[in-house]
Amino acid sequence: MNLINITSVTKIYHTPTKEIKALNNISLDIEDNKIMSIIGPSGCGKSTLLNLITASEKPSTGFIRNNQPIMIGYMMQSDALLPWKTVYENAILGLRLQKKVTNDNINYVNDLLKKYELYEFKDEYPSNLSGGMRQRLSLIRTLAIKPNILLLDEPFSKLDLETRKNISDDVYKIIKDLHISAILITHDIEEAISLSDEIVLLSKRPGTIKSIYKLNFTEKEIPSIRRKDEIFNRLYDEIWRNFDHV
Ligand code: ADP
Ligand code: MG
Repeated sequence: MNLINITSVTKIYHTPTKEIKALNNISLDIEDNKIMSIIGPSGCGKSTLLNLITASEKPSTGFIRNNQPIMIGYMMQSDALLPWKTVYENAILGLRLQKKVTNDNINYVNDLLKKYELYEFKDEYPSNLSGGMRQRLSLIRTLAIKPNILLLDEPFSKLDLETRKNISDDVYKIIKDLHISAILITHDIEEAISLSDEIVLLSKRPGTIKSIYKLNFTEKEIPSIRRKDEIFNRLYDEIWRNFDHV
């Protein structure tokens, strides 16, 4: 079933001096329990598309329809952890902001911390965590509010390659464990192939859909395993050739 339908959406920003057309005629179905990546060159409207989905921006034309109640978890580029709060306090921050600190929700957060190997660091401060651990904590905080769709806007771009590869496996397993949908924004083609069920390639600005790639990996093929599959390189070449290198 489709979670969200995006139909013929165009977005034009109006600034005092000019109009900027960020997206042109985008139609997309966001499916339940699927990971979709949106890739394309810098400035092509990827973040704009996420902001339209979260309704923090409105389409200029076209419409976006949610087919069931959606609870969005949004994870940004920086891990946005508060350095003066403990791991635990950071983990429940989203719950506090939404006034949802119940016993059930706290138990859920503690379970997530245990499952993703952060529970023993509960009382530490973020500065004592590695890059990968910080990213897991940021993800746990996002998951604490029990989203049914996770939006990830270049969440790994500040991490080094090794950490990025490891966290990809973690994030993939977490999303699949929870049976939720995710939209991942990235300019990294390899990251998109290693994590997604579907890749949407946008053209340079104004972003239009150039191609949609449906990937046929099984759920057991986690990112690090996919990277060793010969299909991986073939897909990479194909997408790279289609990519607007600006
Ligand atoms: P991406 O995430 O793919 O790098 P963005 O969606 O951030 O691209 O931006 C697409 C285009 O729209 C860019 O040219 C950017 O400068 C412009 N833009 C984004 N947000 C705004 C805004 N709030 N006001 C005016 N222009 C914007
Ligand atoms: Mg962006």
